[in-house]
Amino acid sequence: MRKDSRKDTVDSRQKAISNFDFRIPNLKSQIANRKSQLFLLLTAYCLLLTFFLAASNSNAAKISRAQPAQKKASVKVINIKYWSNPNYTRVVISLSGDAKFSHRLLKEDPKIEKPRRLHIDINRASLSPSLKQPIPINDGLLKMARAGQYSKAVVRVVLDIESIEDYKVFPLAEPFRIVVDVTGKKRLAVSGQRSAKEEIPTIAPPPAKPSLAQQLGLKIKRIVIDAGHGGKDSGAVGKNGLKEKDVVLKIAKGLKETLSKETGAEIVMTRADDTFIPLEERTAIANTKEADIFISVHANASFNRKASGVETYFLNLTNDETAIRLAARENAVSTKKMSDLQFILNDLMKTAKTNESSRLAAVVQESLVSTLRAKYSDVRGNGVKGAPFYVLVGTHMPSILVEVSFISNSREEVRLSENAYIHEIINGITHGIKGYVKEMEVAVE
Ligand SMILES: [Zn+2]
Repeated sequence: MRKDSRKDTVDSRQKAISNFDFRIPNLKSQIANRKSQLFLLLTAYCLLLTFFLAASNSNAAKISRAQPAQKKASVKVINIKYWSNPNYTRVVISLSGDAKFSHRLLKEDPKIEKPRRLHIDINRASLSPSLKQPIPINDGLLKMARAGQYSKAVVRVVLDIESIEDYKVFPLAEPFRIVVDVTGKKRLAVSGQRSAKEEIPTIAPPPAKPSLAQQLGLKIKRIVIDAGHGGKDSGAVGKNGLKEKDVVLKIAKGLKETLSKETGAEIVMTRADDTFIPLEERTAIANTKEADIFISVHANASFNRKASGVETYFLNLTNDETAIRLAARENAVSTKKMSDLQFILNDLMKTAKTNESSRLAAVVQESLVSTLRAKYSDVRGNGVKGAPFYVLVGTHMPSILVEVSFISNSREEVRLSENAYIHEIINGITHGIKGYVKEMEVAVE
């Protein structure tokens, strides 16, 4: 709105100026022309004087503005980690506190023998003495990651690029970290230096006649199961002491067995024991393994002890306060930080598989609730919802987060500690995923 009205004013000013120019030759005699030339000279002189004065003032301003930037650095760059495969790399820069940063993609500079590179400048930061770098990556996308004290108050992290197609940079909070996701042109697993064009098979399919789904590679070959929390992070804890991390690991282990039997897909677990794994690493595992489905298993909790039931989430922005509180808890951040996340999601959502994820969520939710209800008729189905969960940010495949029941509800806490109930949860999710896999394959045949 504001932009438009400004544009209108500029347009009308331009019109006025051009009208004025048009009138001049008609009005002036020779003498009047000389007078006006003199006047113009004088005006130009005044303008030049003003310009020099302003320029010297702005230099002074620049110097005085530069002073605060020299302030002592307040955060430390602690660690740089990466996960990669030939088509995707995630680099995570961990900091000791919140920081402002900017990023810039630089062209190759043969004169100084510099490759194409991505700069991430972190303000008011310094390098931790424990930071080990440079970090050689050499996965075909990135050559290495290195960091340096660019100025007194700015740390510059440089990613030297071999060949990338796209990249995204976004922060996650508490602890503050900067995530860089880079993707390359899709290559064949053993292709070496092949171009993207060569990947598309132009020869007729072999006599075995694979389905279109198989030809297009839409068959579900790999599923990543993510048991929430683990290690130092217990997740929600029930009144009787049941820990979410233990319940969801049991479910995840069961899912690995049943899903591999029922779908024939390879099942990868983000954790198979009581280990702590950061959320961004779970996503990195799903992406580097090139999973076709990602499912994160959690148990719900609420201050309202009466709250109960099953709900399934996909990544989305939301105004629902309960969903925001839940996502904040699962992200291990304060609800205050959630608005920042919703802001960065605006950009990241463009490439998220939102439709497929919400479809997967619907199928799993429906199957889980109906399976549980067959034996526990009072189980509530709370539906499919969208919310900003860190673990779902940046996944390349349909991804959902299932809240299997409320550990904060005493009746459901008891059920979650019983094998019979866990067994039904495993059956319900497996049946749902199986349905989705079939649906996908039939849809493209
Ligand atoms: Zn959880």
